[in-house]
Amino acid sequence: MVLLGPPGAGKGTQAARVAEHLGVPAISTGDIFRANVAEGTELGTQAQGYIDRGEYVPDSVTNAMVADRISQEDCREGFLLDGYPRTQAQVAALDEMLASSGSRVDLVLEITAQEEAVVERLLRRASEQGRADDTEPVIRHRLKVYAEATAPLVDLYTRRGLLVSVDGMGDVEEVTQRILAALSRHDLVG
Ligand code: AMP
Repeated sequence: MVLLGPPGAGKGTQAARVAEHLGVPAISTGDIFRANVAEGTELGTQAQGYIDRGEYVPDSVTNAMVADRISQEDCREGFLLDGYPRTQAQVAALDEMLASSGSRVDLVLEITAQEEAVVERLLRRASEQGRADDTEPVIRHRLKVYAEATAPLVDLYTRRGLLVSVDGMGDVEEVTQRILAALSRHDLVG
């Protein structure tokens, strides 16, 4: 399963909750990048400048990282991708990775949110967590990059009949319940 949505829509929070219900790992490319930056790995060094500027890390780097992660043992029964794919090239790369293991994307969940609400949430997160890319100019840039590079994936997955949209406004539990209701309509959870 794939989770789509603008920065600040609550993807990370909901990914953890939904993955637990599905009994699969939640894989956040942003978390993996940040862990690599913190550990000072080569991948972290490659990614840091892009992350700090609110740009996407190049597809080649991101795709290789995801291919490695989803080949691990805990992904055999499925997984939830949070923040990947974000470009059309990543969609194609994911299709290939899944096809080579005889699997496919079952469902793409889009979490929607209004721009001003997400900016406000992210500024609040900045004061709580101190993420380097949660400053207002970088937040605005990340929203622009999302609109240009990632929002088109909503149409792409709609055409494939895989997209389900859920309103991400409201409290965390309320949004989780909406998501689980949508998943049960699609037979992903009982
Ligand atoms: P996130 O935690 O999902 O907001 O991601 C934080 C940052 O990590 C993004 O602004 C990008 O710089 C980078 N990143 C995460 N996922 C991807 C991806 N699929 N493609 C390229 N860059 C990514």
